Amino acid sequence: MKKLLSLFAVTLVLASCGSSKSKDATTKTKAPADPTKYAETITAEDLKTALYIYAGDDFEGRETGKEGERMAIEFIKSHYIEDGIPAAKSDGNYFQDVPLVVMATPDITLNVNGKSFTNIDDYVSVSSAKDGTLNTKDIIFAGFGIEDENYSNYEGLDVKGKVVIIRSGEPKDSEGNFVISGTDKSSKWSNMRQAFAAKQEVAKSKGAKALLFYYPEVYAMAANRFGRSTGRMNLADGAEEMIYMLINTDLAKAFVSDIETNEKSMSIKSDVAITYKNNSEKVDSKNVAAIIRGSEKPNEYIILSAHLDHEGIKDGKVYNGADDDGSGTVAVLEIAEAFAKAKREGNGPKRSIVFLNVTGEEKGLLGSKHYTDNDPIFPLADTVADLNIDMIGRTDPKREKKNRNYVYLIGSDKLSKELHDISEAMNTKYMNIDLDYTFNDENDPNRYYYRSDHYNFAKNNIPVIFYFNGTHDDYHQPGDTPDKIEYDLLENRTRLVFYTAWELANRDARITVDKTAE
Ligand SMILES: [Zn+2]
Repeated sequence: MKKLLSLFAVTLVLASCGSSKSKDATTKTKAPADPTKYAETITAEDLKTALYIYAGDDFEGRETGKEGERMAIEFIKSHYIEDGIPAAKSDGNYFQDVPLVVMATPDITLNVNGKSFTNIDDYVSVSSAKDGTLNTKDIIFAGFGIEDENYSNYEGLDVKGKVVIIRSGEPKDSEGNFVISGTDKSSKWSNMRQAFAAKQEVAKSKGAKALLFYYPEVYAMAANRFGRSTGRMNLADGAEEMIYMLINTDLAKAFVSDIETNEKSMSIKSDVAITYKNNSEKVDSKNVAAIIRGSEKPNEYIILSAHLDHEGIKDGKVYNGADDDGSGTVAVLEIAEAFAKAKREGNGPKRSIVFLNVTGEEKGLLGSKHYTDNDPIFPLADTVADLNIDMIGRTDPKREKKNRNYVYLIGSDKLSKELHDISEAMNTKYMNIDLDYTFNDENDPNRYYYRSDHYNFAKNNIPVIFYFNGTHDDYHQPGDTPDKIEYDLLENRTRLVFYTAWELANRDARITVDKTAE
C-alpha cells in the first residue's frame, strides 16, 4: 500500500510539473526581486535575542507535553502573530494537535475453565484496547482467520461479540500448492508483516470482541517487543474495541488441542474470562504551523521545518537545547520574518512557504510523523520540498577541515538533482559557505538521514535538505546553552536556507523528483 501510494505521488508530481511548465511558457511572470535586502534582515543579534529566551531556563528544556514546551509553543505562535504571518490551518488556529501516549504494558487477566494464564508468558496484547471485562462461553475457532475471494474460514460463522481464536499460516491443497494463489507462492495471509493486520481487520469487521492469534513463529519476539515497551512515547493509536492478543502454545491448546494441524472452523465449549486495563498515559502536544501564501502558485508548498522540543529537565538540570534545536527554531522564525517583510513590500513568494515547528522529535520524530502520516495540513503531493534545520549554531570539534564557516548538508541529492543544484548555486551566488557532504552517505554509521524530521517527508518522496552542524560535547547534555552558540555562523546558515527557499518558491518550474524513495 505504501509503495503504491508513493508511486502515485510521483505520477502526480510529474504530471503537475508538465502542466505548470507549459503554462509558464505562456504566462508573463513578474521579474524576480533581489532577495539580498531581505536576507540582511536575518542578523546574528536578532537570532541571539530570540535564542536567549527560547533556550533559557524558563522554558525548562521544552520536553514534549510539559509546561516548558507549552511556553515554547506560545512563544513561536506570538512571533508569527507579531510578524503578521497567518496560521497554516484554514480555521486560523496556529496549532495542530498531536495526540501522544506514553506506552505501558496493559494489565490483563485471562481464565479458561477456571485455570488462569499469565500476561506476557501465555499471551501478549499487540494493539491497544479499551478497558473492559469479558465473561463468555461464546468462543469460535476460525482456522487460519482468512477471508479471501476463493477461501474463507468465516463462512457461515457468526462471531459478533465473541472470542475468536485463529492460527498462523494459510491452507495448501493436496498437491502442496497454496489454495489462495493456486501456485507455490504464499499470500499476504502468511506474510509476517501483512498477516498481523489482515487477520485483525477481518475479525474486527465481523464484530469479534477478542481475537486470540496463535502465531508460535513470532511469539517470543512479539512478547519481548510489546511486553516491554513501557515508558516509550508514541503517537496515540486510538484504543480499539476489540482486544487483540497473540497466544502461546499452552493457551492455544487449552482451546483447541490439535490447533497445529486443525484448519476447520468450529465453536468451542469453554468458559473464558478476560479483564483488560489499558495503562497508556495520554500526552497532549502540538505542532505550530504558519504560512505565507504564494502569489502565483499558492497551492504548491515549500516547508521549512525545525523541531520545537528538547529533553526537558533530568536530575534537576535543565537541558536547554540551544543548538538542538533552539538554533533551528529561531532560524525558522527569522526566515519567516524576512519573507513577511518581502510580502509587505510586494515581493512575496510565488509559491507558498509553510513554517512548521514540530514537537516530539526527541521522542522519535513524532510531530513530523503525525503531520505526514495522519494529518498533512497541505497535500503531500503538492509539497515541493522540506528544508529541515536541526542544529546549526555550533561547530563539530571532530571535523577534519578546520574552517568554521561550513554546514553539513544531508539528503539534498537523494530525490532531486535539481534541488541539490539549486542549493549549490544559491550558496555560490550569495553565501560561500563550505557545504560539507561527509554525512550524506547511505553507509554512514550515524544514519543522520533517518534521524531528524525531514525523513518523514523524504519517505513520501518529497525532496529534502537537512542542515546540520554535527555533534559536539554538549550534544544532549545540560551544557547545550545559548552562550556557546556561534551567532555569526548561525546567521550565515540561516541566510543560506532563506536564499534556497526563496529560489524554490520563485523559480518558474517546480523542481522535479527524479529518484524514488525506497
Ligand atoms: Zn536532539
